[in-house]
Amino acid sequence: MKLVFATNNAHKLQEVRQILGDRFEVVGLKDIGCNEDIPETAATLEGNALQKARYVHEHYGFDCFADDTGLEVTALDGAPGVHTARFAELFGEGMTHDSDANMNLLLKKLEEKSDRSARFRTVIAFLYKGQEYLFEGICPGVILHERHGHEGFGYDPVFQPEGYDRCFAEMSADEKNAISHRGLATQKLAAFLNKK
Ligand code: IMP
Repeated sequence: MKLVFATNNAHKLQEVRQILGDRFEVVGLKDIGCNEDIPETAATLEGNALQKARYVHEHYGFDCFADDTGLEVTALDGAPGVHTARFAELFGEGMTHDSDANMNLLLKKLEEKSDRSARFRTVIAFLYKGQEYLFEGICPGVILHERHGHEGFGYDPVFQPEGYDRCFAEMSADEKNAISHRGLATQKLAAFLNKK
């Protein structure tokens, strides 16, 4: 069965292919000739994931799934949340759109806070045979005081999942995928598909 995943991120495509297994041929946006930036203007992760999946369905006619992820920090009332990718760009006074700037801003905002708990949350929206389905994956943890490790991407060097004494950037891809927000949401999608 062929499935379109509304992403151009090779890392995500590989992760999802690994979890969904051989029964499914997962293709990305480039594979269906979609090279434009899909709007992500909703106020929630659910809204953004649905917006991307609906866009692909409307413009290209495929059933499709799309994901959106946010880092929700307790002491920041759930921020950066839907703004996770552009945290520094939007709230950092002249800072740019990159992971280093994002982590610097996060560490600065938490300097005075004793509660460093946070969670990554991923929502996958799946448009399938005229119905919309949502799958959520949550990974609770804490924000460290400084960066550790060199694996992964984004906020991995400062996010330590609950029950571990290492952060995501100190884990192998397999170890992280087994417990990560995106891994858990994808496992729910896989369970749904395997019942079909
Ligand atoms: P996206 O919705 O998957 O593009 O994720 C939004 C932002 O969240 C990304 O730009 C990353 O900064 C961050 N992010 C998402 N997943 C992870 C992860 O597994 N580790 C670290 N940062 C992540």
